[in-house]
Amino acid sequence: MALMMLWISAAAFAQKEGLKYLDSSFEVYDALSHSLWEEPELGYREYRSVEKLTAHLEANGFCIEKGIAGIPTAFVASFGNGSPVIGILAEYDALPGQSQAAVPYRQPVVEGAPGHGCGHNLLGTGSVAGAVAISKWLAAGHKGTIKLFGCPAEEGGGGKAYMVREGCFDGVDAMLDWHPDVRNTVNTATGLANVQVRFIFHGRSAHASSGPQNGRSALDAVEAFDYMMNLMREHVPSDTRIHYAITDGGKAPNIVPDRAEVQYYIRNPRRSIVGDIFERAIKAAEGAALGTGTTMEYEIVSGNYERLPNNTMSELMFAKLCEAGGVAYDAEERRFAEKMMMSSGITEDEIPALIRQVATVAEPDAGGNEAWVSSDVGNVTWVVPTGSIRVAAFVPAGSGHCWQQTASAGMSIGTKGLLVTARTFYLAALELYRNNDLLRRVCKEFETRRGKDFRFEPLMGDRKPPLKF
Ligand SMILES: [Zn+2]
Repeated sequence: MALMMLWISAAAFAQKEGLKYLDSSFEVYDALSHSLWEEPELGYREYRSVEKLTAHLEANGFCIEKGIAGIPTAFVASFGNGSPVIGILAEYDALPGQSQAAVPYRQPVVEGAPGHGCGHNLLGTGSVAGAVAISKWLAAGHKGTIKLFGCPAEEGGGGKAYMVREGCFDGVDAMLDWHPDVRNTVNTATGLANVQVRFIFHGRSAHASSGPQNGRSALDAVEAFDYMMNLMREHVPSDTRIHYAITDGGKAPNIVPDRAEVQYYIRNPRRSIVGDIFERAIKAAEGAALGTGTTMEYEIVSGNYERLPNNTMSELMFAKLCEAGGVAYDAEERRFAEKMMMSSGITEDEIPALIRQVATVAEPDAGGNEAWVSSDVGNVTWVVPTGSIRVAAFVPAGSGHCWQQTASAGMSIGTKGLLVTARTFYLAALELYRNNDLLRRVCKEFETRRGKDFRFEPLMGDRKPPLKF
């Protein structure tokens, strides 16, 4: 009995140690997050960000393996021994054109330059903080392994799809995931599966006025193809999303374009429907090439599964997020938030409810695909049971991929948010390490939901990661 009590008090002491570490590490993680924020890097080019995050993990005793899945900016950092193996997902890529100073009004640092408009500097740093806190508990003599996965190019590059295909997540028992948001809750939305495809047409160049009969316009092919795709919209399931951008439409009106390119995203809550529509899109592109005397090639940039829910993980994450609490602004942060809200068109009487929103934890939504977004995390959820939270690291103003989020991600409000995540991850991981029955239930639900005969088939086939720019 005395031994048992000693064990309990030692365990309680160790649990407090990890939380105490996070409480006393605000400056460390504020500096790390800010350093990523100041040097925003686009997908697959996050060399400096990876250097900074792995240096911190290495200094805390983690074993680092860089360049996994054949991607220079993908890595795994491991600590501890044996099972259970808990994984954490980290992202750190920035967005083009999102440069913004950490001020509550629109002010780019460098006009048109990249910026952390999705807060992935917080995402990466929060996940790293959680992993280091967990390592403190493991170092106190507990069995288990923590693996932090550095996942590049979430924004349009689908880094995790390649990492899943190459088996990077094999042997992980449960995965923890998060994203900065304007509220604190568990992510239960399954989102949309998608494919991202480049269609490239090749024609024959000619002087557009003196010899047009000799030319075959690749841009004509793009236009014919887009027209067919727009007609197709009437004949696809109504929850489908199809969007495109002409990324090469020729160089000048007096030259018949011999090359043109259009990029498509095709999305639906079910990946089987995405696959059907994609097959029809290829036929339309072939038809457009035939009719315009051009040739066509296509390249799948990435493909993402919809998310596989896991209620057992969601319940665990919700309980631990409630324990970790929301984001409480101090007087200066409140002034910053109010100013940003007012400059974003929010009225004064709407502000108190929004301040309450970031300080409290909201019940999860009922599920479904209502988020209308896709993420490469979807792929991971089909190979490892995954729990995912959203944390109010952004001031509730603007609507995603916007200057307000870049600004929030560069100041103390963002750091407070990432530490809420780190605490939640720490508490959830300890529960999974210590409660075998819980982990068994997580795995059982996972196996039941994905089915006995499930095999991961990458939507981008065997293509290599798009590392050339
Ligand atoms: Zn994001």
